[in-house]
Amino acid sequence: LTVLGIESSCDDTAAAVVRLSDSGADILSSIVKGQNDLHAAYGGVVPEIAARAHVEKLDTCIEEALTVAQVELKDINTIAVTAGPGLIGGVLSGVMCAKGISAASGIPLVGVNHLAGHALTPRLTDNIAYPYVMLLVSGGHCQLLLVSDCNTFRRLGGTIDDAPGEAFDKTARILGLPQPGGPLVERDATKGDATRFAFPRPLLDRPGCDMSFSGLKTAVIRARDTVVADKGGLSTQDRADLCAGFQDAVADVLAEKTRRALQEVAAELGENTVLTVAGGVASNTRIRAKLEAVSSAFGAVFVAPPLSLCTDNAAMIAYAGGEQFRAGSVDDMSLSARPRWPLDTSSAALLGSGK
Ligand code: ATP
Ligand code: FE
Repeated sequence: LTVLGIESSCDDTAAAVVRLSDSGADILSSIVKGQNDLHAAYGGVVPEIAARAHVEKLDTCIEEALTVAQVELKDINTIAVTAGPGLIGGVLSGVMCAKGISAASGIPLVGVNHLAGHALTPRLTDNIAYPYVMLLVSGGHCQLLLVSDCNTFRRLGGTIDDAPGEAFDKTARILGLPQPGGPLVERDATKGDATRFAFPRPLLDRPGCDMSFSGLKTAVIRARDTVVADKGGLSTQDRADLCAGFQDAVADVLAEKTRRALQEVAAELGENTVLTVAGGVASNTRIRAKLEAVSSAFGAVFVAPPLSLCTDNAAMIAYAGGEQFRAGSVDDMSLSARPRWPLDTSSAALLGSGK
């Protein structure tokens, strides 16, 4: 099954060709065209600018994906497109483009939930069986999921306010680093002392798997202001220490809540306990290390996809769409773009129908 994937839900325009077989999946191409240069001056993604850039870049992005994969449109069995959740203008651009190609070529269309794409990514790269636990941590999302098949996701917990990526980006902004700030906070944290500032570990004193990160941001502002008031400014070392302290606080919360999630569903997982991570924040080395420790204490196998597949891409959409198509999902011209589309059991009936 050869799938063309299209992704345009945030600030990356992406197209990919993935081939699914009985033994696994091969990424024949994965093209990602970022828009950081367009949004940098505004300190965040501007939806209008993003939507216009998607419209401009989608055609060439898809052509490039086909060329690199050395396939033609006639070799494609299904077109998988992100139908939500995300910025409505961007999602619409992708859905309209996919519908156009589908209408002109007769190739069936599958609307994919962007989060399902992230949640199924570990199966694209590794031979892992259902069910497994997934920690999805990105710029807009933070969820612990039990993934039972390509359409069944049970939410075990998640953030009640900011997503971790958002917290990293805001921390970067507070410390005067450019956007997207996550990777830069990690870079500075490697030179910092994580014990210098005592940052809170929100909600660890409460049972369950829910998390909170907005208080950490306030703690970073307070610590920064104290240093600035004392010394008249932030040195490189001060900033590194703030980054390290913040990063460890996030890592500790994610690790402990993940441990609880594994415990909660241990009976359902049975012998083959697998912990997987996805989303941009999963590329953070410190967070990965802490999760790996939790996983091994549980006797679980830890699967973290390569960095290029952790952040937004179309290979994950192609793969998820391919699995869902094989399971019987198919959409028609009534497929609509959905800015909000929760990924849990109660909405699973909608998954794949995209309506
Ligand atoms: P969503 O997938 O929820 O729509 P998104 O597209 O913003 O959100 P991703 O592309 O998966 O999310 O990830 C981007 C986020 O990951 C940004 O917030 C970025 O700062 C963060 N991030 C990327 N690399 C790192 C890192 N090394 N450490 C911490 N955060 C990181
Ligand atoms: Fe994403």
